[in-house]
Amino acid sequence: MKNKCVILGGGISGVGTAQLAIKQGFDVYVSDTSLLENNIKDKFKDWGVFWEENVQESNFFQNADWIMKSPGIPNNSSSVLLAKELGIPILSEIEFASRHTNAKIIGITGSNGKTTTTELTYQMLKNSGLNVGIAGNIGKSFAQQVAENSFEIYVLELSSFQLDDIIDFAPDIAVITNITPDHLDRYNNNFNNYIASKLRITLNQTNDQFLLLNANDSVLMEAISRVSTKAHKHLFGYDLECDSSTSLNNKNITIKYKNVNTMISTSTFPLKGRHNLLNAMVASTIASIFKLNKSNIRESLSNFNGLPHRLEHVLKIQDVNYINDSKATNVNATFYALETLNTKGVWIVGGVDKGNDYEQLLPLVREKIKAIICLGKNNQRLIEVFYKVTDVMVETQSMNEAVKIAHNISKKKETVLLSPACASFDLFKNYEDRGNQFKNAVRSL
Ligand code: ADP
Repeated sequence: MKNKCVILGGGISGVGTAQLAIKQGFDVYVSDTSLLENNIKDKFKDWGVFWEENVQESNFFQNADWIMKSPGIPNNSSSVLLAKELGIPILSEIEFASRHTNAKIIGITGSNGKTTTTELTYQMLKNSGLNVGIAGNIGKSFAQQVAENSFEIYVLELSSFQLDDIIDFAPDIAVITNITPDHLDRYNNNFNNYIASKLRITLNQTNDQFLLLNANDSVLMEAISRVSTKAHKHLFGYDLECDSSTSLNNKNITIKYKNVNTMISTSTFPLKGRHNLLNAMVASTIASIFKLNKSNIRESLSNFNGLPHRLEHVLKIQDVNYINDSKATNVNATFYALETLNTKGVWIVGGVDKGNDYEQLLPLVREKIKAIICLGKNNQRLIEVFYKVTDVMVETQSMNEAVKIAHNISKKKETVLLSPACASFDLFKNYEDRGNQFKNAVRSL
C-alpha cells in the first residue's frame, strides 16, 4: 500500500511538495482554506493529486501517514490543531525535500539579509562552474527543485517558519545573519520563541558541518551560548581576531581558518552599507569552504548588483538621489539604510508597526534626516518618537503625494529614502507593490 500524505496549503511550498511526493510514490492530498488557482488545479489533475479548497478543517486526515504544513499556516489553524490531536506527524517542505536529495545544503536564516546573502552565495558558486541550485523562502520551492533537477549543492533561504517543522534537517553549512525582533505575532509576542525558531537551523548539525554566526550580534551570541550544537562554529563580523573567523579590516575580508589567512578585497563591491559587507563576508566564507579561488570570489563580488527594493537606487533628479528600500520591514534594516546616507535626507517611513522599538534610530535621524514623511494608516508611534528630532513631519496615505512632498522639500545633493521599518499591507499589497509605486512616482516627477 502507498503511503498517504496530506499537504496543507496549495501555494509555492505545497505545490512543490505535491510534485515531489507524487514522484516518490505517495498518495497526495492537498487541502487549502482558500480557493486554488486554476493553473494549480490543472497541475494537480495531471499529477493525480486530490484536492479540497475553501475548507478550514481538512477532511483528508483519515489514514494519513504524515502532513506537510506550509510555512504560512499558523500553528493554531483548525487543520493543524486537528492533525496534532490525531497524532499525525507534521513536517515542513524543507524537511521532506532534504530527505530526497544527497546534495550539499547551505541554509541561510536570520532576521535580515537572507535573500541578499542567499543570492550572492548562489551567484558565486554558480559563476565558478559548480552545479548549484537556489530555493526556499526566496520564492522557489525546494521540493520542486529536487523533483526536477539534480543539483549537487543547494543554497536555501530559510525563514523561521520554514524551520519550525524540521525534524532531522541538518545543513552542511548553516548561517544565522542576525536576530532582531520580527514576526512576533506568530510567536505569541515572545522574542525568545522567535530566537529559538531561528536556532533550530543547527539542531541536528554534526561536527563536520559549519555554523556561521554574526559575532557582532549580541542577541545571537548570547542565545547560541545557551544551546548545544555539534557544528563547527565560524564567526563573522567587524574587528574579529580569533581563529575560524571572517573579519573586515580596511576594505579587506580576512578569512581565518586552521591558521591559513585568506584576504579578499571588497574595493570593487558595488553595494552600499556595513550590512551588505557582512553579507559579502558570509558569501565569501561559504565560497572559500567550497575551495573557490580568491579571484573568482572577488569577481562575483564586483559583479553583484544587489536586488530590487533593497537600497535600490532609482534615479537622480535635480541632483537628489531617490532610494527604494521598501524591503526594510523592520527597524534593524532601516537602521543600516539610514547609516548609508552621507548627505541630509528626507525619509519616508511607516506602515504596519509590528511593535517596533524606534528609539534606536533617534541618533541617526537627528544627524541625517531633515524631514519625515509618515506613510501609514496609523502614524501615531512615529510622531511620538520622532517629533522631537525633526523640524518637518508630514502624514500622507498616498505614495504619489509622499514622493511629491519629498521632491518639493529636498535640495541639491540630498537623498530621498523610502525605508519604512514596517510591513506594507495597510496601504499596499506587499513590499514589492510599495516599492514599485515609489519607483513609478519618482519616475513621473
Ligand atoms: P531578508 O530576506 O532577510 O528579508 P533581504 O536581503 O531581503 O533580507 O533584505 C531586507 C532588508 O534588510 C533590506 O532593507 C536590506 O537593505 C536590509 N539588509 C540586508 N542585509 C542586511 C543585514 N545583514 N543586516 C541588516 N539589514 C540587512
